[in-house]
Amino acid sequence: MDSDGLQSLLGELPVVSSHCHHLPTDQQQSLDLDKLLSHSYVGWCGLERGSTAAERQRFLDQVGFNTYFVWLSKAVEALYGLGPVSADNWEALSAALRQAHSDPEYHFRLLRERCRYKFAVEDAYWNAGDDLGRPDLFHPAYRINAWVMSYRPGATDHGGNSPWTRPGFDPHSLDEYLDLMEAAIEQAVAHGAVAVKSALAYDRPLSFDNPDVEAARRAFRSDAEQVSAADRLAFGDVVMHRICRACQRLQLPLQVHLGLGIISGSRPMFFEPVIAKYPEVTFDLFHCGYPWCDELAGILHNYPNVVADFCWLPLISTTAAVYALHQYLEVVRSCERIVWGDDTWTSEEAYGALLAWEYVVGRVLGERLQQGLCSASQAERMAEKLMYANAQKLFQRP
Ligand SMILES: [Zn+2]
Repeated sequence: MDSDGLQSLLGELPVVSSHCHHLPTDQQQSLDLDKLLSHSYVGWCGLERGSTAAERQRFLDQVGFNTYFVWLSKAVEALYGLGPVSADNWEALSAALRQAHSDPEYHFRLLRERCRYKFAVEDAYWNAGDDLGRPDLFHPAYRINAWVMSYRPGATDHGGNSPWTRPGFDPHSLDEYLDLMEAAIEQAVAHGAVAVKSALAYDRPLSFDNPDVEAARRAFRSDAEQVSAADRLAFGDVVMHRICRACQRLQLPLQVHLGLGIISGSRPMFFEPVIAKYPEVTFDLFHCGYPWCDELAGILHNYPNVVADFCWLPLISTTAAVYALHQYLEVVRSCERIVWGDDTWTSEEAYGALLAWEYVVGRVLGERLQQGLCSASQAERMAEKLMYANAQKLFQRP
């Protein structure tokens, strides 16, 4: 098996995605090229796209090397057959997208047939634990940000979510609040959730080292003006530690966004004390902690209860993903502890993310094969683990 053989094998293997935010059908059906870009990471670049050919060309000149754009354009080219995204084919691509999405099943078909998904773990942060009515295709993750951030009625996570808005939700003590949270996690599991998900890097620093119960009690239901920042953080720390204990009891992997987000507080090493404290919990560490992929390598080397999750990384920086995969294969205690997810909202971007991951895996395994660091049969078996087998094992329903 040579590099070409590897690449074509990768394009045929089934896939399991550890993480996505796939949007419901009504939003998929409204897609044209502008909406696709808005619902993608290209939109995060914050650049004006304009509406004339000259304005679009200027946008493409600015964004053309950014890997969010590169892989989305490659996906659109492969799916619609009109070439890469350009100012010239912009309207034709928009029309092709609208036409294809007039079939409400089309976006599911892209995931099943083009992306070859067995299933994806869905983080529907707008409705925690939702499976979009397709439990065969989406295994939900239950997002816990709202529980960690909502120390009082009116407090929310960065997405505006709070448990206090639920009808009849009225706990009068911290303990009652924590019990209700644990019951909500159990209920999510009963509805098919296969993981708990923290995106807290968008809400607060990832150090949870001060689970001071007295400080958390002071913050609970306190006046927003009077509570100290330290007490509010302590509340979140206490909640997070209770989530870890719930994951341990329910044997649920805990997915944790590391890196980027509020970048001053998202270093993987800030979260390391929690990993050390709960050796029986499997921590699925997202995005390889980019830009601190090396820190994650150290954590992978030292702890058996962690998984390196490449979700999003090949889109953030394909080069960083190649380097990280080489390194992680060398230091990880078991090669069953590396997974990938698309981390996207649309099937088009999911396909682009998959093409990026195939490129990364093909390149890394190809180079290792060429350098005599592994055999062809090892490379083939590793390809299966990286594309689906590892994630399938981790997120299989009981
Ligand atoms: Zn995500």
